[in-house]
Order: sequence, then C-alpha cells, then structure tokens
Amino acid sequence: MSYCCSTSCDTDINPKRHRCPVNGQEYKEVSAKTVLHHIKEPWAWEDKHQAYYFCDDPDCDVVYFGQDNSTIKTIALRTTVGIKEKNQNSTLCYCFGVSLASAKDNSKIMHFVTEKTKSGVCACETRNPSGKCCLQDFPKQ
Ligand SMILES: [Zn+2]
Repeated sequence: MSYCCSTSCDTDINPKRHRCPVNGQEYKEVSAKTVLHHIKEPWAWEDKHQAYYFCDDPDCDVVYFGQDNSTIKTIALRTTVGIKEKNQNSTLCYCFGVSLASAKDNSKIMHFVTEKTKSGVCACETRNPSGKCCLQDFPKQ
C-alpha cells in the first residue's frame, strides 16, 4: 500500500505534528481509530485517510484536526474531554475512571494506574480522547 502520488513524492505527507488551525499551537498525531471512538455518529464521519491531531488547549474548541486543517470540535464528540475542562470532576484516566480531584487526593491511584499501564491492562488508545496514556496528565506529586 502506498500513499505516493505524482505531485508529492518527496514530501513527508504524514508529519507527526501539526498546528491547530484555531490556536496555532503544534500538537501530536492521534489515530483515526481514536477519533472514531469519541466522535458522535462515527458512521457519518468521513475518514480522509490523512493524519489527525489532538488539541488539548482548554481555551480552544477544536479537539481533533486533520492535516488538511479540517476540524472536529468539542460539540461533535460524545466524550467529554476532561483535559479541556477546568473542573476538578473532569475525567483524567478514562481506562479506570479517575477524576482530577481523586488523583490529587489519593496518591495510590497513580501507582495503580502506573502498574496497570506497565502490564498493558489499559485502553488509552481508544478510551482516552487524546489517544495517549493519561499518566502524563496526572498532577505532579
Ligand atoms: Zn486548538
């Protein structure tokens, strides 16, 4: 399978980072699989077989954006993106249902999540809208 086309053979068509068309910051790539697990009516979404990225800025309405600068906003998602909410009850870890407040109150939780992540018993790619491990979002202890 090749994505090569006559006009862009020597350009990297899948860079790992891309700027959010709304806030202008660079963000990391997320898989189309992740997008499918969080978007409303995924059957109505057209995957353009390009790279997608996740914007985690709480002040930006965009959650996912494509390499073509098309955007998917908060309102188009069925998942509430905890990291975009400025609220103690927002979800931090989607695999095990940890809120920001409980992560702060109970240091055992981070150890639990770290352990489960190490043994591969987590589902960040599909459950976390960022597609990434939630440990990086835990408050520093
Ligand atoms: Zn953004």
